[in-house]
Amino acid sequence: MTDSILLSGATGFIAGHAIESLLAAGHRVRGTVRDPAQTDRTAHLRAMPGAEERLELVAADLTDDDPFSAHADVDVALHMASPYVLNVTDPQRDLVDPAVQGTLSMLTAAAASKRVRRVVLTSSMAAITDQPDGRILTEEDWNARSSLTRNPYYYSKTMAERAAWDFMERDKPGFDLVVINPFMVIGPAHTDAINTSNQVLADIATGRYPAIMALEWGFVDVRDVAAAHVAALDPDVPSGRYICASGNMDMAQIVDLMRREGYGRGKLPKLRLAGRFGTALMRLASRTQPAGVGSYLRTHLGRAPHFDNSKIRREMGLTFRPPEESVTDALADLAARGHVPAPRA
Ligand code: NDP
Repeated sequence: MTDSILLSGATGFIAGHAIESLLAAGHRVRGTVRDPAQTDRTAHLRAMPGAEERLELVAADLTDDDPFSAHADVDVALHMASPYVLNVTDPQRDLVDPAVQGTLSMLTAAAASKRVRRVVLTSSMAAITDQPDGRILTEEDWNARSSLTRNPYYYSKTMAERAAWDFMERDKPGFDLVVINPFMVIGPAHTDAINTSNQVLADIATGRYPAIMALEWGFVDVRDVAAAHVAALDPDVPSGRYICASGNMDMAQIVDLMRREGYGRGKLPKLRLAGRFGTALMRLASRTQPAGVGSYLRTHLGRAPHFDNSKIRREMGLTFRPPEESVTDALADLAARGHVPAPRA
């Protein structure tokens, strides 16, 4: 069965892969962009197989009064647009308002359309935890600690997802809600724009980290996140939250991989500050960083996330690329686009 789909934030990193997969599966896609006149930002989408016949791009800004109603005559709405940045000047205006208002606008438009049978919301692990505490995280967990001053991006994602479930409970619309909660999404991109999570790899490879720190990330490949969004269209997939993550790598493992593959060229951090003393030192040093990065460091140094991804594997039949493969492919793409020096042969 093919669907007619509204997808917000078509210019995004994940959206590029999702649109490619949706078109390949035969679906009709209406993607929203802030400014359709910026054709250079959507050329990669228009060049995708099937785009000429089945991709339409329309204008919508999350902070507009009613950005989605005019476009919601569809079977399924995928709400992906949300600002993904760590450092902002006004977290309420720049993160929380667009995240929450955008989500509520999409749900309201879907409810009014009568045709929409499902909304798929791209939430985040940020709505699950803002400070891993050693427990195995599941879909039952909610981030209860972020605020406008502590991991404000995490706060925006948590508030947006909570608003979505509250809407479902209160308004009981004629569609159901599937929420995808990806961990750190990495992999090859369709454009030269660097996503915030691929930026971490670029920063390590170009020497922006002074030392190997006790940072460990749960990764998921962008192509697998796209596959999850396609799988979520299946009406047999039950409504609910789905952790979307493959496995972990810590900074030392990433640096080792980069060294093995010839990346970094003398820029890779050598100093190891991943023990107790180093972590205490790095926590102090985080005070010199911009607020968003500083609070991220203080809540994540020395704390590895552990998670259970069995629900998405079981209900959506999803399999995940190992994180080493995603890091390798992301690095190759970053090098091909000139963001990191090419690896030594
Ligand atoms: P990108 O930054 O690449 O994409 C974000 C998209 O949101 C862009 O299309 C952007 O449009 C759009 N957007 C932001 N603000 C507005 C606004 N005010 N009005 C309209 N559109 C807006 O990020 P990702 O592809 O990584 O993220 C996609 C979704 O996945 C987000 O909801 C993000 O929170 C979530 N996510 C991402 C993870 C990751 O590691 N990358 C992990 C977990 C969740 P424009 O191009 O015009 O700026």
